[in-house]
Amino acid sequence: MASIVVIEDDQHIRASIAQLLAGSGHDVVTSGTAMAGLEKAVHEAPDLVLLDLGLPDVDGTELLKMIRAVSKVPVIVITARGDDQVVVATLDSGADDYLIKPFTTSQLAARVRAVLRRAGADTERERISVGGLDIDIPARSALLDGAALDLSPKEFDLLVCLARRAGEVLTKRDLLAEVWREPYGGSERTVDVHLSWLRKKLGETAADPRYLQTVFGVGVKLVDPST
Ligand code: CA
Repeated sequence: MASIVVIEDDQHIRASIAQLLAGSGHDVVTSGTAMAGLEKAVHEAPDLVLLDLGLPDVDGTELLKMIRAVSKVPVIVITARGDDQVVVATLDSGADDYLIKPFTTSQLAARVRAVLRRAGADTERERISVGGLDIDIPARSALLDGAALDLSPKEFDLLVCLARRAGEVLTKRDLLAEVWREPYGGSERTVDVHLSWLRKKLGETAADPRYLQTVFGVGVKLVDPST
């Protein structure tokens, strides 16, 4: 799990981000101002900084430059301004990724995971077990009731994505963002097709599901069928 500094002046957003990240097991330190945030981003030596661009004391882009002057810590910028110019300027100033308000908690969680993964932070759970499913992530292998599943790379990624958040409903948009890295594009049909292939390999059908439960009009969740 990672240590994360959240710099955001909106108390409500700050609290909900902190809660989400703490819920994923991260150590979270927050700041409502740029200057206090800068100090924390430097002195806490975090694994990641989440930085809101619209801060009361110093503009977030300026703060990002100050952080970059002294630290290589990965930074995800949060902006209400989604226009091309702002996004380009932010990435040019050294941001590793960005989120445009309003964003979903799934999207935030996915960006944090992706940036930490790229940074090589030790946040991956190496193995996941749900019911009779055993997934060894580094080995990219999965067993169902002790028998190896023959999964394509995308099917494996999809299974891991769902299993990491077993019991939680993920939308097709979430899955496009996380598995296909297409947060804004891609076709939900792609997800449907891969889900049906994965179902087949798990020996189940949409009409008679076990692990992959469709929540009509919302998405899909992976569950332990024995509970
Ligand atoms: Ca703000």
